[in-house]
Amino acid sequence: MTMKAVVYRGPFDVATLDVDDPRIEKPTDAVIRVTTANICGSDLHPYEGRAPLDEGMVLGHENMGVVAAVGDGVDRIAVGDRVSVPFNIACGTCRNCNAGWTNACLRANPSGKPTAGYGYPQMGPYWGGQAEYLRVPWADFNLPSSTRSRTGSRSPRSTTPRR
Ligand SMILES: [Zn+2]
Ligand SMILES: [Zn+2]
Repeated sequence: MTMKAVVYRGPFDVATLDVDDPRIEKPTDAVIRVTTANICGSDLHPYEGRAPLDEGMVLGHENMGVVAAVGDGVDRIAVGDRVSVPFNIACGTCRNCNAGWTNACLRANPSGKPTAGYGYPQMGPYWGGQAEYLRVPWADFNLPSSTRSRTGSRSPRSTTPRR
């Protein structure tokens, strides 16, 4: 299956293209149907060529949506949950995550650099949410559920420190 997504093709060149839709790749993944994605001022750094971004990357690091699928290892988040997605991707169990420094997770970025995020230069291979669907790694840790559409609304809460 394919989805529409905003794809970076080079400086000053982005386009809405049909790309492969995201799948559950690991048991701890979720896939969300994106309902809202921001275009951020930070997107201008790659767009204007100041920060190198791989051609083919899907932009969008400020995302909200409804959970569409979860892996077998996800138990706190369920299909139908309405979620707000933090920009940083964190494993939840490494030394930095345990210290609360989830913005500097030591495991999420395959390059070994202590930071990962969606659709952004040098923050790993993770596609962003200016798209119909978004894959979220370590979904139980990275998806603070703000309202639970299955059972009505509940108070906002966050499990990942923001700063
Ligand atoms: Zn931003
Ligand atoms: Zn971590």
